[in-house]
Amino acid sequence: MFSPLTVCLSVCLCAGCLQKVVDGSGQNLDRHQLLRRMEDSHPKEDAACSIVIHAPKIMMTISECKSDGRFVNPWPTWKQPSLFSLLQWKLTERNHNGIPHKEELDRTLPIQMPYFMQSSSDTSVLDGSLRVTWLGHSSTLVELDGIMILTDPMFSKRASPSLWFGPSRYRDAPCDVDQLPENVRAVVISHNHYDHLDYNTVINLNQRFGDKLHWFVPLGLASWMHASHCKTVTELDWWQSELLPGTSVSFVATPCQHWSRRTISDENRTLWASWCILGPKHRVFFAGDTGYCSGFQEIGHLYGPFDIALIPIGAYAPRWFLKFQHLDPEEAVHVHQDVLARHSLGIHWGTFTLTDEHYLEPREELERARGRHGLTEEDFFVLEHGASWQTSTMVSAH
Ligand SMILES: [Zn+2]
Ligand SMILES: [Zn+2]
Repeated sequence: MFSPLTVCLSVCLCAGCLQKVVDGSGQNLDRHQLLRRMEDSHPKEDAACSIVIHAPKIMMTISECKSDGRFVNPWPTWKQPSLFSLLQWKLTERNHNGIPHKEELDRTLPIQMPYFMQSSSDTSVLDGSLRVTWLGHSSTLVELDGIMILTDPMFSKRASPSLWFGPSRYRDAPCDVDQLPENVRAVVISHNHYDHLDYNTVINLNQRFGDKLHWFVPLGLASWMHASHCKTVTELDWWQSELLPGTSVSFVATPCQHWSRRTISDENRTLWASWCILGPKHRVFFAGDTGYCSGFQEIGHLYGPFDIALIPIGAYAPRWFLKFQHLDPEEAVHVHQDVLARHSLGIHWGTFTLTDEHYLEPREELERARGRHGLTEEDFFVLEHGASWQTSTMVSAH
């Protein structure tokens, strides 16, 4: 019986979509099982290929893949960027990023030496507490219930396939791969854009950690990771989960509204995802790279509350072009509320020249958005490059 769930269904049977999903009771289903159960309870419709399950407490939007093997966002809040609109942006909008000389940057966006590079620091893995260190852009080191995890590690000078062109850093990474703590066990990748998945960083991480490192990636990315010498790769569709072997920490790929591309012909051939990292004592949400969509409420219903959410706040102007793929600080606060985060850290800002807003505007707009929503700096904050946020007293009650 499928009666507790009301299903709005349309069908996609392309190979990329035949992946396991988790239903509201936590039971793993593949799409064939889902379709069989839904055909028993609901007439088949023949529109696009999204599946949305509505239930009194649970609604899960499942990833959508067209017959040409390209993923699409299953929300009306999405619009795919076109070459024409990209040209329109570049030809008609003014860049206001105002990035100053290094001395001024050292004052406004200082770079701290991470705690693990300070000789006086204890770099042993924290067991009963949670710590997040910002390594610039969307790169963080998360220490959750004794496990060290990197999010979208990026330590190169340019977010580009070339050493010579493409978005460059105006703030250095606070450390190199060889300065990371030796106990890093896992990496989560949100999608394949160059500012989130960097070939040289992947190579350097593999050289340093080898097959001790477990990579969690969205659907379609495993072959690229294997070609880049990653030994242990787990590829997941939205709502699929997997334990990090030998631990009680599970990784759940969850929805976000974005897109993917690394070459001229591979647009949207791999999926994009946010990630829930669920430990026995703490929960972290990594929003990846995303515009605003209703998927975050679903994530909050299923896996919230989170002890901390890592939410992008930058690379949002001009809004007419970027609102579909990038949050602004106001929308980032909505995500903080939707996923039921106790605290949030603003990421994806202050590092690369990507878009038109002033380089300090994300931090300033976040402060204004906090004020509008009655939040404090403790609720949703930014860190200096290399700085850490830590709690040792909070214990999640789920
Ligand atoms: Zn991106
Ligand atoms: Zn990005």
